[in-house]
Amino acid sequence: MNYEKVHLLMEELKLEGMARTLDYSLQNWSKEDKDILQLLQELLLAERKERMERKYLTALRYSGLPFHKTLDEFDFTFQPSIDRKQIMELKTLRFLHEKENVVFLGPPGVGKTHLAVALGMEALKEMKKVYFVNAITLVDKLKRAFFEKRFEKTLAYYKSIDLLIIDELGYLPLDTEGAKLFFELVSEKYEKGSIVLTSNRGFTEWDKIFDDVVLATAVLDRLLHHCSIVNIRGKSFRLKEKQKIGLVGTHVLNQNLSSIHKNS
Ligand code: ADP
Ligand code: MG
Repeated sequence: MNYEKVHLLMEELKLEGMARTLDYSLQNWSKEDKDILQLLQELLLAERKERMERKYLTALRYSGLPFHKTLDEFDFTFQPSIDRKQIMELKTLRFLHEKENVVFLGPPGVGKTHLAVALGMEALKEMKKVYFVNAITLVDKLKRAFFEKRFEKTLAYYKSIDLLIIDELGYLPLDTEGAKLFFELVSEKYEKGSIVLTSNRGFTEWDKIFDDVVLATAVLDRLLHHCSIVNIRGKSFRLKEKQKIGLVGTHVLNQNLSSIHKNS
């Protein structure tokens, strides 16, 4: 009878972790020579574990990460231009603690988004607030917020994110208004939170993205002041995979490689 009451109370109070482990813990407790405080501690720890897991899953869903790949799934031998040690240092999340930035540069398919996502996954494991957004989508959101007179609130929201991942800056140029709002966001986060950014364009080309040298310089100034840069020069993993299954002829791969070399 007591057991049932306790179980019901746990459910009513939404102590799901405790409720789930109650049978197992009670059985062990009666078998082993443990005192009542040990039993209570075991139940509380189970509850905490369950809550942390739920929080992690909610944060993972909310982060907007387009896929859930980790650094363990990254083949460093395929991309020798990447300094593995540098990436392992980033994995420690010291940069996040110091509110520094990370920029991944390189042609399409070399793993920029994969690495950015993997750092996001590491930060989520540490219960940090992570948000992944495509650069164009981000600028659209900023513009809409500005137009609807809630720009300050939107900035405050982005400021509250520990790790903001901005993907694919430079695939499309920004218009003047978008570029200015983007600059405001980068200024707002400067030394207050980390940005991980990916781009297919080298820094010397950023004036083309922002259509304004002064603005591009101002963005770069803040972004790069405390920043790790990972410049990837290599083959596209996507093409390699396609070639493996025979969808792309060797000449296409070679063409792609020579254009990458030209651009780098
Ligand atoms: P980018 O953002 O540079 O265009 P992605 O990170 O999207 O490239 O990579 C394209 C695909 O190839 C993804 O599915 C990614 O997981 C995979 N990929 C890229 N590089 C590697 C690598 N070195 N090892 C394992 N998978 C990789
Ligand atoms: Mg990408």
